[in-house]
Amino acid sequence: MLIRTAHTADHADVIIVGAGVAGLATAQQLTRAGVSVSVLEAAPQPGGRMTTDEVDGFRLDRVGRLMNAAYPEPHRTAGLAGVPLRLFAPGVLVRSGERLQRMGETVRRGSEPGSARGALTMARALASAPRPLDEARLGASLARLAATPVERLLARPERQAAEALAARGLPPRTVQGFLRPLLSALLCDPELTTSSRCADLALRAFARGRLCVPAGGAASLPDRLAAELPPGTILTGVRVKEASINRVTTLEYGELSCRALVLATGAREAAELLPGLRVPRFHPVTVLHHSAPQAPPTGTALLLDGEGGGPVAYTTVMSEVDPSRAPRGRTLISSTVLGTPSPDLEREVAAHLARLYGTPVDDWELLAVHHTPEAVPAMAPSHDVRRPVRVLSGLYVCGDHRATSTVQGSLLSARRAATAILQDFAISSPLEPRPLPSAA
Ligand SMILES: Cc1cc2nc3c(=O)[nH]c(=O)nc-3n(C[C@H](O)[C@H](O)[C@H](O)COP(=O)(O)OP(=O)(O)OC[C@H]3O[C@@H](n4cnc5c(N)ncnc54)[C@H](O)[C@@H]3O)c2cc1C
Repeated sequence: MLIRTAHTADHADVIIVGAGVAGLATAQQLTRAGVSVSVLEAAPQPGGRMTTDEVDGFRLDRVGRLMNAAYPEPHRTAGLAGVPLRLFAPGVLVRSGERLQRMGETVRRGSEPGSARGALTMARALASAPRPLDEARLGASLARLAATPVERLLARPERQAAEALAARGLPPRTVQGFLRPLLSALLCDPELTTSSRCADLALRAFARGRLCVPAGGAASLPDRLAAELPPGTILTGVRVKEASINRVTTLEYGELSCRALVLATGAREAAELLPGLRVPRFHPVTVLHHSAPQAPPTGTALLLDGEGGGPVAYTTVMSEVDPSRAPRGRTLISSTVLGTPSPDLEREVAAHLARLYGTPVDDWELLAVHHTPEAVPAMAPSHDVRRPVRVLSGLYVCGDHRATSTVQGSLLSARRAATAILQDFAISSPLEPRPLPSAA
């Protein structure tokens, strides 16, 4: 049984390094179980990669955040109860030359995210689109994926997603014109070098639930988690230089002691503090935000390029999806570019957006460009989606690099880390999930 100690300025039961969603969710689950926690964050604010900037009344994500309403982990994370999600229109909109094809548009808004009924309705909707035979095969393939248990997907042979797609038996135009751009967007991986198992997980989630963003910006998730912690739990502007099970050294406060340590940093920083941890390759991502005098007529759709005719992997009229992100009467268009951007990126993106939306963009104003070279850890085969979070008793590592490179993966690794710590502290505290309401 844990002997609870007072949370003093220089001691806590558990020190967590990093206040991204993984560190905050771990802290939130431990404090609910009565464990004293200090979260040390190098940046001036919590949130990590899920940061939202306010610019002239616009709320601009640094990440091109795409979540899925079927992700189970936000629903299970008690501290995220009440974070409303803004749903994209069902399926995606794909531009191929002059044609703009909406895939899955007849999926009923009322269908439960993650339900088999939703998946089958999606399959029927795809089957009713143009080129009925191709679409029927695609719909059947997605419906099968939606109904396949995760464990079965994880037991499939593993190779690169691009190779697995080619062997799926679907017409090349379905693969090139729909699955390839969709998977590139979902995995932030234009070359599709990701593990085919992770690609299947992403497609399965797509077939089971609606794509969505957190209302108010990506930061609303870490903000909600941080607000639930006791005052003084998070220390920002504190960089950990050295770490061991019962002590960390910071530049700002010297040594702080603890009974257990959690490294909830990105993969590279975790390996700097704990040499021997694996550092993956990363996918660079650039996010561009424009304001426009008028919203292009794509509604709340996520728009992809079925021909790969420019740098934009996906784009949306974000102020239609989530009106709280733009001042009243203004339009916000958010676009994501994958890979290393060219020096002429802004001009190339503007030209590509004009083609994708089918409208001149000369009067669009560029609000912000955020480039993150190490945005998303690559999940090349063989990728262990359940990489151990417990290094040894008293030392834990969590974050997206321990699971899948998504907010879902970060939260899952956090729950596994919190569970392991409570077990090692001999505290039996089932962490009760609360439902996550979803807003249209
Ligand atoms: C541009 C971009 C696009 C993305 N798109 C998507 C998407 O569409 N869908 C999706 O699900 N995911 C996406 N992701 C990934 C998602 O944002 C991450 O998986 C998730 O935010 C990672 O959270 P984390 O808590 O694991 O790590 P982080 O958010 O990186 O948090 C780690 C924290 O540790 C702090 N830290 C590091 N070193 C130290 C130190 N020595 N001392 C103290 N503090 C330290 C950092 O400052 C940081 O705040 C994207 C990410 C980016 C950047």
